Amino acid sequence: TLPRLPIFEALSSHNPKSIAIVHSKSGDKFTYGSLLSDTAKLKRKLLEKGKANDLQEQRTAFFVENGYNYVVSLLSIFAAGGIAVPLHPSHPPKELHYIAKDSAPTFILTTPNSKAHQIFPPSSSSPPILSFSEHPPDEPHDVLVPVDLSPTLDPLRGALMIYTSGTTAAPKGVVSTHKNLTTQATTLVTAWEMGKDDHLLHVLPLHHVHGIVNATLAPLFAGGAVEYLFPFNAQKVWSRFADTSRKPISLFMAVPTIYSRLIDSYETLPEPTRSAGKKNVSNLRLAISGSAALPASTKQKWESLGGNLLERYGMTEIGMALSQRLPLTDRMANSVGWPLPGVEVRLVSDGVEVTEAGQEGEIQIRGNNVFREYWRKEEATKREFTEDGWFKTGDVAMRNERGAYYIKGRASVDIIKSGGEKISALEVERELLELPQVTEAAVVGLEDENWGQRVAAVLVLTLQGKNEEFDSAKMRAEMKKRIAEYKVPREIKILEAIPRNQMGKVNKKELVRKVFAGDE
Ligand code: ATP
Ligand code: MG
Repeated sequence: TLPRLPIFEALSSHNPKSIAIVHSKSGDKFTYGSLLSDTAKLKRKLLEKGKANDLQEQRTAFFVENGYNYVVSLLSIFAAGGIAVPLHPSHPPKELHYIAKDSAPTFILTTPNSKAHQIFPPSSSSPPILSFSEHPPDEPHDVLVPVDLSPTLDPLRGALMIYTSGTTAAPKGVVSTHKNLTTQATTLVTAWEMGKDDHLLHVLPLHHVHGIVNATLAPLFAGGAVEYLFPFNAQKVWSRFADTSRKPISLFMAVPTIYSRLIDSYETLPEPTRSAGKKNVSNLRLAISGSAALPASTKQKWESLGGNLLERYGMTEIGMALSQRLPLTDRMANSVGWPLPGVEVRLVSDGVEVTEAGQEGEIQIRGNNVFREYWRKEEATKREFTEDGWFKTGDVAMRNERGAYYIKGRASVDIIKSGGEKISALEVERELLELPQVTEAAVVGLEDENWGQRVAAVLVLTLQGKNEEFDSAKMRAEMKKRIAEYKVPREIKILEAIPRNQMGKVNKKELVRKVFAGDE
């Protein structure tokens, strides 16, 4: 016989009266009991409309705003045995159409008044829409009818299909099984010591592993509460931190750009928001950063507010793989820490495993966390695995003597080859960010006849930097004191902002095309 799905085992083991979900804006609260019974109801509806039981491994797309109804949708698709495909309302319609076409879902699950009805008008080329009415927040209730949410599903069945960010190529649908998701989430529960007392403030979009697995499924596995505040707004987050009439936030997860926006707006906060907000930040059990490299200066400024900040590394295909460890006693900057329990990590250079500290290699991953396949891309799936079953991340890293990892960047865009030397764009960016005139930096390689590639940088200046006359020769001279001359950018362009996606990632190929076109 097949086992019950671990997510439902976990959810039904929590106190049905304890809070699972909170809507930050309205203050509406939803219990674990309601979450299970509403999930059971929606599961039945899915199976009816999906013509009983043939939902198995069928894709069900869902277009739902962050909050309770999103979680109910996700769980009911799991319970019905389908593959959940998030279509996030914050995504541009063009990308939503791409995903809806590529994943070929049976239908799109949504709420009656959502934008999905306009984005996907009834037509032969759009999947049909299935609406469900939004669930009201909890009435306080004593007796809860036990619900049978015991789908005995094959754990190797596909559960979730998240599209990669499309930073380096067209987004690919990553099919993760129930076993993958359970492993990814429970690993984090253990490593980050999540429990029922945790109250997470969730400010991320819900179409990436960061928002779905790390910040939603993991705390729900642990019996904690997830409070949704979306879209991210620095003032609103500070007000929530400062709101002493509500449960204090214990857990916060964000991308580096969110941390730097919080730090910037802290200066402008009125009292008493400022001191009350700072108090909650210094009382956070844990704040976590990931999805892009965390600048050392951002980490240090956050810590000077009294908060801690753990950095981790992961990707859609593998969930999280590397993380700094608790307790956060040594405040290592620029390191993403050690392999998470159960995740095998190796570095490979020219087909040979790198074992010495300080040497660079591609990060390769093995474990139950690793996804099953790219959706309908058999060739791409094959290409990304080694013959002995390791997933090739395409990211380059090195390890120090203590086995801690340092990310050097993506092999395809961040490892710049100039005059026979390999230069890590991330390393140069980190040094640029140490200059008092620089607030943001993106380093790229440009095609070069003599050198193969030459190093170039796009910078955003701080107020101080803007007030000074910008002198790129002077900046290069400053950089030469910090790093070897061949790593110093030969060309520097100043922008008002560096284009980033919602997860703070820079599409470097596009940046080169936009900013340096004509130079090549
Ligand atoms: P695509 O695969 O479509 O090009 P993507 O790789 O950006 O898009 P994701 O899976 O969302 O899509 O992102 C994973 C990538 O994010 C990793 O491969 C790595 O390059 C980067 N990343 C994640 N965490 C960190 C971190 N802490 N430091 C540096 N880079 C990170
Ligand atoms: Mg990728």
